[in-house]
Amino acid sequence: MDGPSGTGKSSVSRQLATRLRARYLDTGAMYRVATLRVLRLGVDPDDPAAVAAAVAELPLTIGTDPGQELILLAGEDVADEIRGSVVTRAVSAVSAVPSVRELLVALQREIAASAGRIVVEGRDIGTVVLPEADAKVYLTASAEARAHRRNQQNIREGRGDDYQGVLADVQRRDTLDSTRAVSPLRPAADAVQVDTSELAMDEVIDALYRVVGHAVAGNGGPR
Ligand code: C5P
Repeated sequence: MDGPSGTGKSSVSRQLATRLRARYLDTGAMYRVATLRVLRLGVDPDDPAAVAAAVAELPLTIGTDPGQELILLAGEDVADEIRGSVVTRAVSAVSAVPSVRELLVALQREIAASAGRIVVEGRDIGTVVLPEADAKVYLTASAEARAHRRNQQNIREGRGDDYQGVLADVQRRDTLDSTRAVSPLRPAADAVQVDTSELAMDEVIDALYRVVGHAVAGNGGPR
């Protein structure tokens, strides 16, 4: 499951995984943990060599239960901190560093291989991480729809109301993620593309359950 932020990708992936009785992996959370590590070590996120050194050893634990998030850095629960604005501002720079991607992509492949059926969510899953996936989905939505959703989520979770700021951040991250040299954000040639701007989350999940359920059924069916 790939696509830019704010398309509803996380909720859709999590709920789809539950419905498919699959595991779930949030790869964005992994890049966020790497970014938190960089920031905590006092390293400049825009210094690729220093970032590479800081992330060379990353004591990261990530769970794959779609019903329960588990994200630890050196044993500490960092699930909330990695969603904050400090990490969000720096994550694109950190995730553009090739050695960071190599390390995390290897870990993502290991987790996927040992999980059996799994919904993996990110930016480069269909193109780079798991090009042989049974089903590939690319979610899109207008920048405005995505900023609106993220802003509503921030309000719900007590992080304040700042639509213009969120829109600027969405556009900035889109540009950085789609123009970077390594694994730029783009749909895989064989991905099913769904524009979620005008759709309710349930409609998206129903549509994808049919698409993915069909692909999975051709490969042994839901367990
Ligand atoms: O999905 P989320 O918004 O948490 O991802 C945070 C950032 O991590 C993205 O903006 C992107 O820079 C990076 N990312 C990535 N490759 C992935 C997943 C996330 O580069 N597979």
